[in-house]
Amino acid sequence: MKYVLVTGGVVSGLGKGVTASSIGVLLKACGLRVTSIKIDPYLNTDAGTMSPFEHGEVFVLDDGGEVDLDLGNYERFLNIKLTRDNNITTGKIYQSVINRERKGDYLGKTVQVVPHITDAIQEWIERVAVIPVDGKEGPADVCVIELGGTIGDIESMPFIEALGQFSYRVGVGNFCLIHVSLVPVLNVVGEPKTKPTQHSVRGLRGLGLTPNILACRSTMALDENIKAKLSQFCHVPVENIITVHDVPNIWHIPLLLKDQKAHEAILKVLNLLSVAQEPVLKEWSSRAERCDKLQEPVNIAMVGKYTGHCDSYLSIIKALLHASVACSKKLVVDWVPACDLENVTDKENPEAYKAAWKKLKGADGILVPGGFGDRGVQGKILAAKYARENRVPYLGICLGMQTAVIEYARSILGLQDANSTEFDPKTRNPCVIFMPEGSKTHMGGTMRLGSRRTYFHALECVSAKLYGNQRHIDERHRHRYEVNPDMVAHLESAGLSFPGKDETGRRMEIVELPNHPYYVGVQFHPEFKSRPGKPSPLFLGISLPITKWALELDFFFHCRFCCLNLLLNSSATCYPNPYLRSFFVPLHIQNVKDYPIHLQKKSFILNLVTWTFLITNSKWN
Ligand code: GLN
Repeated sequence: MKYVLVTGGVVSGLGKGVTASSIGVLLKACGLRVTSIKIDPYLNTDAGTMSPFEHGEVFVLDDGGEVDLDLGNYERFLNIKLTRDNNITTGKIYQSVINRERKGDYLGKTVQVVPHITDAIQEWIERVAVIPVDGKEGPADVCVIELGGTIGDIESMPFIEALGQFSYRVGVGNFCLIHVSLVPVLNVVGEPKTKPTQHSVRGLRGLGLTPNILACRSTMALDENIKAKLSQFCHVPVENIITVHDVPNIWHIPLLLKDQKAHEAILKVLNLLSVAQEPVLKEWSSRAERCDKLQEPVNIAMVGKYTGHCDSYLSIIKALLHASVACSKKLVVDWVPACDLENVTDKENPEAYKAAWKKLKGADGILVPGGFGDRGVQGKILAAKYARENRVPYLGICLGMQTAVIEYARSILGLQDANSTEFDPKTRNPCVIFMPEGSKTHMGGTMRLGSRRTYFHALECVSAKLYGNQRHIDERHRHRYEVNPDMVAHLESAGLSFPGKDETGRRMEIVELPNHPYYVGVQFHPEFKSRPGKPSPLFLGISLPITKWALELDFFFHCRFCCLNLLLNSSATCYPNPYLRSFFVPLHIQNVKDYPIHLQKKSFILNLVTWTFLITNSKWN
């Protein structure tokens, strides 16, 4: 196993996570198998109890781990599935050491930061690095370890000490340290300044770690004399100084690293030059370029609580981006603070109220994300109502699903006080209730978490079709409340449908409004499994513009009919465009004859194109 450690210097927020993920992409493109570990030196056991305002979103893994959002970057960039142990925190390390101390494992010794905590860190890294995360057997070739925070932080000291010992333990040729630092360009002089990086490298050396490679964050590409200066003062070869300058979208970063031959520098340090191949990043470059060129916008209104801090909804934004790029649309996210849609805001701050409603009304699709607590819930209910009544595509995620159900119960069933017991514990019409297995005393790790199965009970619904008519799907969860099973029949009789349920059939996973272009609420979080080039089906649903949406959707379903036999076994692998792919997965055969003649013509042409494509595709030759 080879290790690449990524540290950060000067300031936080340099994009260390994206740089580290891009390094992983580059190594993977060289034919290596890559895993990753994120170290967060805070005391919390995990990110589950941390506010998205402060720390950005809590990312959820298949195994139910509530982790730092950087693990999301790794999963998306490397297309891997990590485990909760791939996120190390001070809290977890201390907890494991204290547990061992209580068991008497230290045989009467004084338990200390060095060696007990530092040993526990090293053991943890070695244990987790060998867990396969890419679906293949056996350990990966390289483990990218990202150390959170900035060099010099008090709380990262035990980790720095442990990693210093670790680099010595695994030996030269097995450990590569990449230091991500800032090279600011001062406006007055217009010249890149190397001093902050010099200082931070000095700090790193003082702590016993020597960087092999410098990744310099800057607004512009650094010229040779700046690199020479950095090389001289930081004792890093010039060819190992890489500029990570600002780019139009983050998919360019692996390409930027490749252009500067970062892979060669890393492979040389790791003695892997002879086994690695030239990196192939064709998919990345075409996606990055395509994304830059997109013109036709798709406006999505994000009606949330943490709209001032876009990292709070990072995975949702990424999922929307994956879907919009697949649909050849330029994603425009209109942030709508849920509270601003409420009547009280109209009285207190009419400008904000007007602006919020203007954004909502101008959107092609409305997305209500997950959330906790009652702030802004009324606004979310109003957004769901607006989408339902005006036939605007709506995707409600977790709380967004619950608010859609509350809205329906209030408006259609006439139950004015219908509510979730999360917001009104005494409501006479609890349409969303606390799940029986939840804990009311402990907040950390007690929700219904991680990958759970949803079974489709009706294959004629839009969500099942978007998922390619699979019988069941596995998506990640993070919630305490659920739709009240006792109210389901009442809601269904009023026209709401629940096509997706858990294995017991008592827990509602998906809600849909038939006869609406796209009105879907899901108890799970589809955003966590969306990948560039493999968007989440439900995000594809909302990223299509409302114009002609309903008709087009039907049209695509009909087109699948003629491709049935050909695509039966190959749709997932042979069709390059995931948007089209999701519509081409065959199962239901409907009657094209019922549709207007212009759509029948379109269907014919599309089928012709599909056949031509399939016949010319190398897999079919
Ligand atoms: N607060 C709601 C619940 O616990 C929704 C959670 C969420 O949106 N992730 O069920």
